[in-house]
Amino acid sequence: MESVGERIVRLKRERNAVILAHNYCLPEVQDIADYVGDSLGLSVRATETDADVIVFCGVTFMAETAKILNPGKTVLIPDPAAVCAMAQMCSPEQIVSAKAANPGKEVVGYVNSTASCKAEMDVCCTSSNAVDIVSSLKSEGAVFVPDRNLGSYVASRCPGKDIVLWQGFCPIHQSISVQQVRELKAAHPGAEVLAHPECRAEVLALADVIGSTEKMLNHCRESSLDEFIVLTEVGMRHRLEVNCPGKRFHFPESAMCGAMKMATLETVESVLSDLGNRVELPEEVVERARRPVERMIRRS
Ligand code: SF4
Repeated sequence: MESVGERIVRLKRERNAVILAHNYCLPEVQDIADYVGDSLGLSVRATETDADVIVFCGVTFMAETAKILNPGKTVLIPDPAAVCAMAQMCSPEQIVSAKAANPGKEVVGYVNSTASCKAEMDVCCTSSNAVDIVSSLKSEGAVFVPDRNLGSYVASRCPGKDIVLWQGFCPIHQSISVQQVRELKAAHPGAEVLAHPECRAEVLALADVIGSTEKMLNHCRESSLDEFIVLTEVGMRHRLEVNCPGKRFHFPESAMCGAMKMATLETVESVLSDLGNRVELPEEVVERARRPVERMIRRS
């Protein structure tokens, strides 16, 4: 009898499908994916695939981004209830008001936002390229939505730009405390500290390296050190262990995002089987959101 993994491989072939999975997904889902990466890497992959069907294992804004880039393809999300809490902290109406209140500033939107919000943005970014995108703006500054922590990190790296911060945040990264980091450092004194820029500024101040999950991976792979404290969502441990054999990784164990765990082998098999949970977006939203998303990818 076929295992669930074998059924997924067969269905994938029959459907001419590709499976993309975020670094925070469950280990077994990462293992059956054709590509595992951060938001930027996954967006780029979504532009390169010649598959007819994209199964996006992550949260809804990621699957929407794949649809924006591939309006003619079938994009499936294993569980449509997988919604990013940060992406809910901003609405298109609020962006329109912020634009009116800040003439001369461009709206730079973190990719962790809904498609309708992206349609109102000037340019999108990920944690990999946010500093590069803001520093290259021709405008005097930016309204940065929705993550205040990433926005504040970007502002610290772009001193010539006047950045208006939004008040959104990722509850998972926001919950990582200075106390937790101090305890991890005391328990593992030889470990280097890596932090995601969605963490609070006082946590970033304790880090040796700040960057996206992909930057973390590259750093750990190339480093001569073999022990790291990793301040991001715990799903990243699997990607690091697969790619950096023999090295040790310590996480704040409470940093777990339930939405990122909703794609399972069973839900992946189910959508491949019935092509259910299709991502559908209004044509006008796709049209308007494509420009800021493509601007983001051009600077990858
Ligand atoms: S980890 Fe945070 S930013 Fe990422 S999907 Fe979960 S809530 Fe959203």
